[in-house]
Amino acid sequence: MTCRKNRFGKREMKNPAPEMKIIQSVSEMKEWSRSFSGSVGLVPTMGYLHRAHLELIQKSLDACDATVASLFVNPAQFSPGEDFENYPRDREGDRAKLDKMGVDVLFMPDAEAMYPAGFKTCVDVRDVTRRLCGATRPDYFRGMATIVLKLFNIVRPDKAFFGEKDWQQLQVIKTLVRDLNLDVAVESLPIVRDADGLALSSRNEYLNAAERRSALALNRGLQAARELADSGTASAHSIRDCIREIIEREPSAEVEFISICDPESFEELDEVGDGALVALAVRMGKARLIDNCLLEKAQCKSPY
Ligand code: AMP
Repeated sequence: MTCRKNRFGKREMKNPAPEMKIIQSVSEMKEWSRSFSGSVGLVPTMGYLHRAHLELIQKSLDACDATVASLFVNPAQFSPGEDFENYPRDREGDRAKLDKMGVDVLFMPDAEAMYPAGFKTCVDVRDVTRRLCGATRPDYFRGMATIVLKLFNIVRPDKAFFGEKDWQQLQVIKTLVRDLNLDVAVESLPIVRDADGLALSSRNEYLNAAERRSALALNRGLQAARELADSGTASAHSIRDCIREIIEREPSAEVEFISICDPESFEELDEVGDGALVALAVRMGKARLIDNCLLEKAQCKSPY
């Protein structure tokens, strides 16, 4: 039995849940979208679903008449030498989780369907993609923006749901939607963490037990940043140094960046005022972990 809100915001029980439709072809997905008359929520994922993905799905189920989850490990957003081949995959497990939640459609095209022979186009969102993850992952944002625009065109969602763990990705998508006048409302979900504070990520799968413990240093670093800012430290330099010291105590940690920047333009700041973003990328064994926190008193209170 599934439980979801009707258009008046009242919870209604559906019994039995209609079976989740699995669609692999672009034309069939477009046909479904054309023929569905209610509001549609889209949750794009690369699969290997964890609790954060499921919270995004629940947000969509609560807000929309139908929810489409997409599962596609997008080759275009991985550069040579990155983990495309090894990215964790569990199609059957993902399918079962989505079905159980009452998702209406699982869209899981293959690479040939999304990038047929002769594919030439890409979407370049300038400036906001230059710094942070864009500086070290040259293909990431172009590949991501291209696939997100394709998914929007195929599924035609009224709302699309993304996580704040990928803060820069979220800003790139908001910029894309604004600049290209797309008719989709972008909704976001705060970072979902394990009980010990580690931000959930499919890539946490790469961590061995010792690395998993070391990975907690990212959240400790963010917490320290918040405490410093709360106690009146304005110097971004001092806060960066403190985070670096905490993370570099872990022998397996290799800092890629510690940024204290404007949360929309990603320009580095000298002083934190209200609304600074602290963004981290750290290599830990085979995993590249990212995490972030807004140094905005109301938003950065973490229970961890
Ligand atoms: P992925 O499958 O990693 O591409 O992620 C799919 C969506 O889940 C993206 O919008 C991510 O930002 C979001 N997401 C992944 N992990 C988390 C997390 N720990 N908290 C919030 N959102 C997340």
